[in-house]
Amino acid sequence: MAQQKTLIRDAFAGLDWEVPRLLASLGQAPELYFDSISRADVSAWSTGRIALLGDAACGAAIVGMGTGTAIVAAYVLAGELARARGDHRTAFARYEHTLRDYAQGYRKGGDRTGPFLAPGTATGLRVRNALLNRRWILNKMLEKGKQISSVDLPDYAAELPSTAASGVVDGRVGPRAALRLQ
Ligand SMILES: Cc1cc2nc3c(=O)[nH]c(=O)nc-3n(C[C@H](O)[C@H](O)[C@H](O)COP(=O)(O)OP(=O)(O)OC[C@H]3O[C@@H](n4cnc5c(N)ncnc54)[C@H](O)[C@@H]3O)c2cc1C
Repeated sequence: MAQQKTLIRDAFAGLDWEVPRLLASLGQAPELYFDSISRADVSAWSTGRIALLGDAACGAAIVGMGTGTAIVAAYVLAGELARARGDHRTAFARYEHTLRDYAQGYRKGGDRTGPFLAPGTATGLRVRNALLNRRWILNKMLEKGKQISSVDLPDYAAELPSTAASGVVDGRVGPRAALRLQ
């Protein structure tokens, strides 16, 4: 942590605004969140009986759709497992087939978003700040972000016994309840 604090002090030395105050308090900080912006690109979303979900599978976090994509993936994975009556091989293959292109769309979007949000140059920082400080540009970007990718979600509840369609089976949440979470 001491090395990370030194890296931060060196990187932000000489900046104004709130930075001097933040750097002054850095010494007393008992914890530090220090990480790179990075993304896992995996060739397959499952192996054997293990399936990946969320950032580990989709890598859509950088474009700001990580949580939404993770919930959609959880819904499809649960639905396909129910549809395949627990045959994980069939379910995992269908799960990935249904969502690969959808997730890929956001992953590609992230290729531009990462360098935009965390630019490596002073000019890049100025451009980013200028754009993000204009509400109509920000709204346009958010609108555009939503349109990057979409998927038609299957309605698994229609194929399941009526108890599952109600959302709760033996006290557990069923796919229909998961759909409502979106
Ligand atoms: C700054 C920032 C802003 C974001 N803004 C948005 C946004 O506006 N909208 C949006 O949709 N998404 C956003 N995201 C992305 C979103 O947070 C992620 O996509 C989402 O949290 C992914 O969920 P997850 O369950 O896959 O992973 P995580 O939420 O990262 O959960 C993984 C969990 O596993 C735990 N873990 C890791 N290793 C181990 C281990 N070996 N043993 C046990 N536990 C372990 C971790 O501690 C963590 O709790 C943002 C992310 C960041 C960093």
